[in-house]
Amino acid sequence: MKRYANVIIDISLSSLDRPFCYHIPDELAGKIDVGNRVDVPFGRGNNPRKAYVISLLEEPDCDPSIVKDIIGVSGASVSIEEKQFELAAFIKSNFGGTMSQALHVVLPAKAKVKQLLLREVVRTLGREELLSLKGEALRKKNQNAKVKLLDALLEQESIPYEWITGKLGVSASTIRSLEKAGALRIDSVTKYRNPVHVNKGEGPTLTLSASQQAIVDSVKKDIDESRPGEYLIHGITGSGKTEVYMTLAQIAVSRGEQVIFMIPEIALTYQTLVRFYQRFGSRVSVMNSTLSPGERYDQCMRASAGEIDVIIGPRSALFVPFPNLGMIIIDEEHETSYKSENTPRYHAVRVAEYIARRENAALILGSATPSLESYYKAEKGEIKLFELNERLTGGSLPEVTVTDMRQELKEGNRSIFSRKLQALLKDRIEKNEQAMLFLNRRGYAGFISCRECGEVIKCPHCDVSLSEHYGGKLVCHYCGYETAKPKKCPSCGSGYIAGFKAGTEQIEEKLKEMFPGVTTLRMDADTTKTKDSYEKILSSFMNGEAQVLIGTQMIVKGHDFPNVTLVGIIAADISLNGSDHRSGERTFQLLAQAAGRAGRGTLPGNAVIQTYRPDHYAVVHAAAQDYKTFYSEEIAYRRLMGYPPVAHMLGIRTAGPDRARAEKLAGELADIARRGTYKVPVLGPAPAAIEKLKDMYRYVVYIKAEDYDILVNVKDSLEEYILGQGTGGCFVQFDFD
Ligand code: ADP
Ligand code: ZN
Ligand code: ZN
Repeated sequence: MKRYANVIIDISLSSLDRPFCYHIPDELAGKIDVGNRVDVPFGRGNNPRKAYVISLLEEPDCDPSIVKDIIGVSGASVSIEEKQFELAAFIKSNFGGTMSQALHVVLPAKAKVKQLLLREVVRTLGREELLSLKGEALRKKNQNAKVKLLDALLEQESIPYEWITGKLGVSASTIRSLEKAGALRIDSVTKYRNPVHVNKGEGPTLTLSASQQAIVDSVKKDIDESRPGEYLIHGITGSGKTEVYMTLAQIAVSRGEQVIFMIPEIALTYQTLVRFYQRFGSRVSVMNSTLSPGERYDQCMRASAGEIDVIIGPRSALFVPFPNLGMIIIDEEHETSYKSENTPRYHAVRVAEYIARRENAALILGSATPSLESYYKAEKGEIKLFELNERLTGGSLPEVTVTDMRQELKEGNRSIFSRKLQALLKDRIEKNEQAMLFLNRRGYAGFISCRECGEVIKCPHCDVSLSEHYGGKLVCHYCGYETAKPKKCPSCGSGYIAGFKAGTEQIEEKLKEMFPGVTTLRMDADTTKTKDSYEKILSSFMNGEAQVLIGTQMIVKGHDFPNVTLVGIIAADISLNGSDHRSGERTFQLLAQAAGRAGRGTLPGNAVIQTYRPDHYAVVHAAAQDYKTFYSEEIAYRRLMGYPPVAHMLGIRTAGPDRARAEKLAGELADIARRGTYKVPVLGPAPAAIEKLKDMYRYVVYIKAEDYDILVNVKDSLEEYILGQGTGGCFVQFDFD
């Protein structure tokens, strides 16, 4: 009899990241299982804490004389399958954090939620017998209710219980008396909450193009031969990727396997869902954070009971427990939202790789602008690469103009709009076609640039932009290099150097000054605070309620606007000057996708990219919509600097209310890494990009290595150190690549 349990406490302090042994008291014997959530007395005060049971033991692995009793099982928990533990362990060891945090990630439904029970009244006698019962009731007094119910049962074989007691107004005792008479029985069925509410229309039946079919055939062949692999579909928007995904999903489903379809953002769920629903009907469901706990729990139950074939959703969809997973599809695989912002900072694509391998499932990645990681793997032959190069619905790529804002300034234009963009805006407003103005604010980190020559002040060691900090000093967020803010541009001597400060509001204001009477909509963090504001703004723009939509990167994704014939990108450079090595990649993706927004319908489109760096390769190749050339230049830069994906990088962040402590801890960790067995290059400590956040001082240390596993080992040794020494009130977070 197993009378001891190892549990992990459900809190996130690294020092508690080890199992504790508890005794299972008599009254709970046989009632506790691995995966249960229990309450245990903890610490000196023996305060009750939540804990997860990770194993059951016959003999305690601690001193039996001091072992405490488990207090109780806190609700019946979702039983955690071994696989999910394994997955949690994988996430913990590869991305840092505690087992408890990892378990939070892999358990999409945190606890059992009361199931909805639906009762049905089913008739058990034939018509003749019911009629004779009815005759009997009619002859007696006060039997109206019975007559009503019998009438109903004569019409319908089974009736929802609640309808009888509600609409029909028949009491429970009347139902019971007929049950006793043998006229009916009461069945209860579990009713799952289903978050999907779609009107099933007919989807179009399309014949795949030759290049679409070639992808399907190739993947199908591998699946048929039981060696599904990893695939990358590089295809411009509108090239028919989703059509291919659905056909591939169909292949898995017809083999009795399940499919996870991942999308980067909740906002994109609905349109995708409709298309899948038309193909797969009610065996499609969704999983995301807007579902209620009950809905989430029920989707897991339905999935493990084999009632769902395809689940659609962002990161959390990855953890739906399927009995026989056959395929994971990740659309827009380059999106940053696939990486978790919280500890453990796991990357969904990496986790999907692990799951796919373990389940022998196919992994399909798709994007118009693949991540460097995926394309690099394709180049090395680790992923099969497919390309889709044409739009299948007509519509051509827009004509893209790059305007040099330095030149504009030289020629006396001090407006935030270049002359080309002004002329095109005027034209579109007059023709009553729509325009989008996109302010690139991603990665804005307080960089300093020259308005005359476009020069950005960079770290001499890391080739990333320096950021302005208090007191006018410039700091590198990788290595900690510091220098005073120069008064003059080091390149051309101009005094006109400054940070960039323009917001969407200012753009709207300037636009209205220039074109009185123009109607606008604005989409940014301020206007999208409420839950459905995003959809509202987009749909009113879609309905033509405004001529110009102004926004941040939010407007780049999602909906197609057939009437948009002009896209203006106001500050293309900003994301180039982000203080990390992905700035070029982010910029290329944003510009290529933003420019691609114009000319989706039948009307031809224009895009204007305004920049101080017209010759930067990310700008040049985005304007030409040329991913491959961009990739080859970017990968050369990564190779030169030893940045991922060519090598790997581990970021270690410390944060604490006390500046000196956080810095000292970062320094200690850096020293340990330097002295360790691997002789890895260690950068820093340096103040983080946002040095102080919510009254916490933040420091970073970066470690580079060619081999990911080396970094995992370094991380383990640092975690051990933290466990031994404590963190002195600081937080430590690990961030891979
Ligand atoms: P993507 O996912 O690459 O943006 P979609 O699969 O959404 O592309 O396809 C874009 C448009 O082209 C959709 O309207 C879709 O119905 C249509 N389409 C896709 N494949 C075909 C095909 N083989 N024949 C005709 N139209 C197609
Ligand atoms: Zn200059
Ligand atoms: Zn540096």
